[in-house]
Amino acid sequence: MTVPVGVLALQGDFEAHGAALARLGIDSRPVRTAEEVRASAGLVLPGGESTTMWKLMEGTGIAEAIVAVARRGDPLFVTCAGAILSARRITSPDRDGLGLLDATAVRNAYGRQLDSAVVTLTDLDRSVLGGEPLEAVFIRAPKLADLGPGVEVLARRNGDPVLVRDGNLVAATFHPELAADARVYDLVFGAAAARAA
Ligand code: GLN
Repeated sequence: MTVPVGVLALQGDFEAHGAALARLGIDSRPVRTAEEVRASAGLVLPGGESTTMWKLMEGTGIAEAIVAVARRGDPLFVTCAGAILSARRITSPDRDGLGLLDATAVRNAYGRQLDSAVVTLTDLDRSVLGGEPLEAVFIRAPKLADLGPGVEVLARRNGDPVLVRDGNLVAATFHPELAADARVYDLVFGAAAARAA
């Protein structure tokens, strides 16, 4: 029996992540308490509304549990609002994040007109993702700024980093759970899936 990946299920797009993981043969379950978070073999922090997620986490110990899972080296996949929670700093409103992604998350950085879009990303780190363009769904996405020296940029949109890796954490400012492309999940959980097989 392998331990499932936990998908934080307080709010947001957690069901689609569960379905995407299932398509890849990766066992996951929704997690809603600090105990469930700690008992997971890796975590997904989904998109949604980061301000709501902070409110729902208050006083639950979930934030501390997420940090503990990250510190013990388990794979973390954080997307959109999840990437915002993970950042070192967050703007509008300004506050500290969990400090797992060495970057500042600039919330809603694309402005009203361009806030949601399906974009074909071609500026990719080919050694990691291969040469095929990556379809990416952006929904009121943040931008990542002030990247620390240990953060690798794996994909850019108009020069802005949209897929990055910081040690055992991979952050996407878009929504890989809404696209059919498995490459981004493989990046995070490929090794774990191979181990389980
Ligand atoms: N705009 C949202 C936030 O700031 C993130 C959007 C998303 O997760 N799709 O939390």
